[in-house]
Amino acid sequence: MAFRAVHARWGPVLAHLPDLGCGRDWPEVWRVRPRAPLRCDECNHPMHAIVSRNGMRFFAHAPGAPKCALAQESAEHHLLKLELAAAARDAGAHAELEVRGPDDVWRADVLASDPAGAWRVALEAQLSPITADDISARTARMLKDGVSSVWFSDRVRVPWFVVVPWARVRTAERGGLVVIEGLSRFPNGHWEQGPPAVPAAEFLRWVFGDRVVAHQRRAAGRSPLAARHILWTPPRYAELEVAHLAELEAKERRKQEELRLRQEKDRIALETRRAALLPVPQLLRPGRLLFGFFAAMAETELENIREATLEGLDTAARKGNHGGWPPFITDDMLHTVLRRRANGETVEDIQPDLIIPIGKRRQSPSLSSIYRALAEHEKTQAYPEAVATAHADFAAVQQRDRSPK
Ligand SMILES: [Zn+2]
Repeated sequence: MAFRAVHARWGPVLAHLPDLGCGRDWPEVWRVRPRAPLRCDECNHPMHAIVSRNGMRFFAHAPGAPKCALAQESAEHHLLKLELAAAARDAGAHAELEVRGPDDVWRADVLASDPAGAWRVALEAQLSPITADDISARTARMLKDGVSSVWFSDRVRVPWFVVVPWARVRTAERGGLVVIEGLSRFPNGHWEQGPPAVPAAEFLRWVFGDRVVAHQRRAAGRSPLAARHILWTPPRYAELEVAHLAELEAKERRKQEELRLRQEKDRIALETRRAALLPVPQLLRPGRLLFGFFAAMAETELENIREATLEGLDTAARKGNHGGWPPFITDDMLHTVLRRRANGETVEDIQPDLIIPIGKRRQSPSLSSIYRALAEHEKTQAYPEAVATAHADFAAVQQRDRSPK
């Protein structure tokens, strides 16, 4: 069924207009004999003028029509188109049904236009299933000719709500179309449903006057808007969303910056603590840090031992004795002292039994000589390398002294 047919002589005839859009009356095409020469605009098949039981006027294809887009459209669809056209007129626009674009590239269910010629808006009644791709292609074709579009459906969920601006409508009890979903507002950082029942004429007045705009939302939307991406909203809410998102982003940036500063502070604190702690593990390992201290101390001590040994060797050499110890304490004596002392005897106990092997009188070494020899012995035991060095140095000195000058 259709509201539009083409009369053989008058041209386009519109069933919903009182003068049929061409200065004629409905009785001139309805139930006349012979039948009025009406044909379908789409398929050129003959059409008849019909009045439904509830008084709606329309055109229907004569029997045997080919497959025609208009023939397949439902009464429901036609009624919605009619309602949209009426609402557009109430909103102060010119409204035409089933308008074709240049070269037939598009067809608008209702083409609403500014009486002053400033704008044209296609009002599309979409009740049958259509894919998102098809609907965006249709929208793009119309837009190319300067015609924006508003899609209407009475369905709860349509698969194309992502790609085109649309409104959900229902027929009010007292007649007339009401927009029940699609208007939104942005009060507290999220999108909410707008007014729940706005007469279609009021809604269209807002659309035509740019008091609401189709807005692709970015912020969160509360049910039932969570699934809708394009909303009708006053421009100020769209601006509020932009400001809100900018504020969120700035907040996030500040948070990131604070986090970065805190991490930097923590890192510095950790490094400072590490630096302070650094000597401790080394102190716990004397092999490393204390080594330097002991090494310095030992060097002095070694030098002393070397000097003392050299002195002893020199004295002995001058006396024709090649032993390393002071003349009165021999190695045998020292070993006797060490052995007996290890058994628990005191140096005083041992002293009388020691006999100096040289000299005329058999006499014992003094206690102080024995203690001095013991002390020297302990040192050489602790630093055998110092003694070895002293012997080597002494040998070298003697070698040089003997060589010819
Ligand atoms: Zn047709």
